[in-house]
Amino acid sequence: MTKTALIIGVTSQDGSYLADLLLEKGYRVVGTIRRNTTYQKPNIQHLIGKIIIEAADLIDGESIARLLRDYQPDEVYNIAAQSVPADSWSHPLYTGEVTALGVVRVMEAVRHFAPQARVYQATSREIFGHVNADAATESTPIDANNPYGIAKAYAHMMTRCYRESYGLFACGGILFNHESPRRSLHFVTRKITAAVACIKNQVANPPLDELGRPLITPGGKLKLGFLEARRDWGYAKEYVEAMWLMLQNDEPKDYVIGTNSSYSVADACRIAFAHVGLDWREHVVSDEALLRPTEITVLQGDYSLAEKELGWRPRTSFEQLMQIMVDADLARFQ
Ligand code: NAP
Repeated sequence: MTKTALIIGVTSQDGSYLADLLLEKGYRVVGTIRRNTTYQKPNIQHLIGKIIIEAADLIDGESIARLLRDYQPDEVYNIAAQSVPADSWSHPLYTGEVTALGVVRVMEAVRHFAPQARVYQATSREIFGHVNADAATESTPIDANNPYGIAKAYAHMMTRCYRESYGLFACGGILFNHESPRRSLHFVTRKITAAVACIKNQVANPPLDELGRPLITPGGKLKLGFLEARRDWGYAKEYVEAMWLMLQNDEPKDYVIGTNSSYSVADACRIAFAHVGLDWREHVVSDEALLRPTEITVLQGDYSLAEKELGWRPRTSFEQLMQIMVDADLARFQ
């Protein structure tokens, strides 16, 4: 029998790759978008006509409940969030409302209207904020230190709470950073690869950043924050496979998904610029105005449990990932 999956936040990087994966597997896919005043949804252009699109908002519990009632999905993936840690300082209340409380609206809707559904909740490595260790596992203590991480910590613990209190098949994916050509321009890897493409192709009108400023200055410079910040970066297309595998497991659990390696922002610049024969040091400057009020400590994602129990492991190196992203942006920004 055809299975139905509900993806809350299908316009996202992860939601769109997940829709691709589930369609390949023969699912009927229902994906939610938010009502807003612009119609540009680049990540789902190729999905139009292949998935059912519904409007829903994590702030509006009834819009979520209606979908659970009407579609009785077998699997629910809550991918949606105010997903930008850097923006969470300027929007702490909104971040809490969507990224934390939004999860309770999803869990309540599942509990009341489709308790048989298996639920994947996107949590984040940012729940570990201050933790000082080489690598994080599922038992690393939660110690978030920014409004986004704290909202995700709440989401993570609520997922566990609904699993333990009501017996929901609910899994929390503690995902480390993952990138792709579908990554939003809010995030540093995409800023870098889009800037590389615009500089290489001498694009006259580069895309705007999240504050509406051209991504590169008239002098051809890309401004970034802390260049020595290190992250564990993997390929989003592979990370959505882990989400699906979690819901096929015999029992619901939380899993760390990462690559157990880390690279700095400067490394990302070096690889991306070198891919088109440029020296990053001539094009990238660190701007103090872009520093985060608090940095998270360096931490890698130890995915041993996922490898052992789900058979999941990352396959694309960070260098390959940056090159895939640069190539996609070279084609996009002509
Ligand atoms: P993303 O591309 O930034 O997309 C966020 C999604 O959330 C978009 O579909 C957005 O819709 C939707 N959304 C925002 N506010 C909403 C609201 N009030 N109601 C309904 N939908 C709303 O996200 P991503 O990078 O794919 O990440 C997916 C999830 O994993 C997020 O929860 C993120 O926090 C988490 N995560 C991501 C990473 C990573 O490195 N990518 C790491 C750990 C955890 P619009 O298109 O309308 O804006």
